[in-house]
Amino acid sequence: MSLLSQRVNNLGESKTLAMARMTNELKAQGVDVTNLTLGEPDFSPFDFFKESAKKAIDENYCRYSPVPGYPELKEAICEKLERDNNLTYSPSQIVVSTGAKQSIANLMLSLVNEGEEVVLPAPYWVTYYELIQFAQGTPKVIFAGVDQDFKITAAQLDEAINEKTKAFLFSNPCNPTGAVYSREELESLVTVFEKYPHVQIISDEIYEHIVYDESLVSLGSFDSIKDRVITVNGLSKGFAVTGWRLGYIAASDEVAKACGKIQSQFTSGTNVITQRAAIDALKMDPTSIMPERTQIFKKRRDLICEGLSQIDGIEISIPNGAFYVFPNISSFFGKTVNGKKIENSQDVSTVLLQDFHLGSTPGHAFGAEGYIRLSYAASEQDLLQAIEKLRCFAQTCA
Ligand code: PLP
Repeated sequence: MSLLSQRVNNLGESKTLAMARMTNELKAQGVDVTNLTLGEPDFSPFDFFKESAKKAIDENYCRYSPVPGYPELKEAICEKLERDNNLTYSPSQIVVSTGAKQSIANLMLSLVNEGEEVVLPAPYWVTYYELIQFAQGTPKVIFAGVDQDFKITAAQLDEAINEKTKAFLFSNPCNPTGAVYSREELESLVTVFEKYPHVQIISDEIYEHIVYDESLVSLGSFDSIKDRVITVNGLSKGFAVTGWRLGYIAASDEVAKACGKIQSQFTSGTNVITQRAAIDALKMDPTSIMPERTQIFKKRRDLICEGLSQIDGIEISIPNGAFYVFPNISSFFGKTVNGKKIENSQDVSTVLLQDFHLGSTPGHAFGAEGYIRLSYAASEQDLLQAIEKLRCFAQTCA
């Protein structure tokens, strides 16, 4: 009998965290590494948010909260969803969790039975794939590459859905590509969902505040499907508090209750200090606090995209949200760098780190061989360095 369960043996280590760890290890050895592996904003929390957290400590918030979150917080979330996203939910439909990652884990464990399928557009966030499998479901991957600006078409969606399909799961804006679906593009997907009322539709909108050209349209705002759209969101990215751990879902009462039940046995309610501070954060009108940071991200996006588009062999689609760019680097496959053969995206990321001291994440982690993910949640100086390192890599490839 083996010590560890089949379940854990089948679970992959988060490949994004693995690459970040290797990058940090090299940095710790004193190497001048440019780290573009990060999946978190490099800003501090807003001052008002820090004050709210301190106040919660001073007011002695320290006991267990209700499992799905404080009633005032769930109300604040409903008001926020109405105000920012045109979504109408009641507090009983909200479950607050220890990050959106736990929200998605709760959902997979609540919805998916062995053999059921979850339609997963690729490139996808690594965790989705692992969690679907952890719940014994089957990821049904639909691929949309750089030639499609990383967005699936209605025809692809239609082809992927069948009677075994339990759910559809995507992030919009997307990690790792930064793609954002327009209203028209969502509308065309909605016409497909209308044909399949047995499918739950999960829209992870955790990057909603980091969108450049127009504001995000929430999938749950389409009347014909809204009863089966589960909206996932959280504070990690927009409010730059990845370590404070607060995410949430808004779903039908039945699904919310099931997620609460799972959570009651795994973790209970999330950190009460964060919950109290989140009440204040979510009451803020985002248009009064977010644009300044979004503009900074936009400037960095323009900088890195401009640099990348001038390097031979690299193809990009300009991202419209989040803080990632996802270049196609497959033209380097079959070439050699400093005696090392490049066969896949892992080789590219490894050579970039070892020989050029640039941390990136290989595309295969996101179901997209042929690409790497670069996070531009980094200083302009780091981005300029990264571009230089990539240019050197491309020129050294033979
Ligand atoms: N959803 C997406 C698409 C993400 O990229 C991430 C984090 O990288 C999460 C959810 C997790 O967020 P949280 O920190 O709230 O668990």
